[in-house]
Amino acid sequence: MSIVRSGEDLRFDPAPTRRTIIRGAMGAGLLAAGFAPHNGAMADELPAGGPGGLGERTAAEFWAGEPRLYTRADWDARPPKRPAEVLNRAPDHIIVHHTATANSKDRSLSHAFALSRKIQRWHMDGNGWDDAGQQLTISRGGIVMEGRNRSLDSIRAGNLAVGAQVLHHNDHTIGIENEGTYSTKGVPKRLWTSLVEVCVWLCEQYRLDPNEAIAGHRDFNNTSCPGDRLYRRLPDLRREVAARLDGVPKGGAHPETSIFPPFDPFG
Ligand SMILES: [Zn+2]
Repeated sequence: MSIVRSGEDLRFDPAPTRRTIIRGAMGAGLLAAGFAPHNGAMADELPAGGPGGLGERTAAEFWAGEPRLYTRADWDARPPKRPAEVLNRAPDHIIVHHTATANSKDRSLSHAFALSRKIQRWHMDGNGWDDAGQQLTISRGGIVMEGRNRSLDSIRAGNLAVGAQVLHHNDHTIGIENEGTYSTKGVPKRLWTSLVEVCVWLCEQYRLDPNEAIAGHRDFNNTSCPGDRLYRRLPDLRREVAARLDGVPKGGAHPETSIFPPFDPFG
């Protein structure tokens, strides 16, 4: 089935390159709205521990299943201009994006919810889309939120709520917006932990092989998204998700060492 997204596919790239940011700034005021391409003054990594965000969750507490996820009602989403189209099939790719916003140190729920509202406002009022383009959003504090309407119910049912996140490929992909700009800065641990968890969940729900399914936005469109640093970690992401799906315990035997015998056969 061929889905023609007459309006949304033809407008702005939802995660613009530097060039499209400048074009967008002139056309729709995206820069003025906060699409800062980079904020070098912000910290690279978030400190571990402390109040707020996902608190004390550690890698060892990883579980296979639906991650803690905040709904559109939680972040007070506006109603969409029209309900998302839902396809009765799974997507074949999970697209990793970065929001190209500042690398905020704020891990709080209120910051994460404000981010979701801001993205929805950019996408609806700036880009003229029906709703937020991406199906899922993860804040730098690791807070996972539903993006486009009908996304959560669709994932739970194994279906795809069609978004606007990869030009010409929205009818077979699901997109995750990761807060921050990762062209030169590394990905915060909390965000990474949640990204792995979300990808495990999506691979389970859609029966996807992470090695084939997980891709960066730049694999499909002419964009720098999700930034060089995050893009270079996609092999790690595929490996970690695959290990989780295989039931390899986190913190247990490393796959690369388990090929060796547990004792020295020549000793
Ligand atoms: Zn993108």
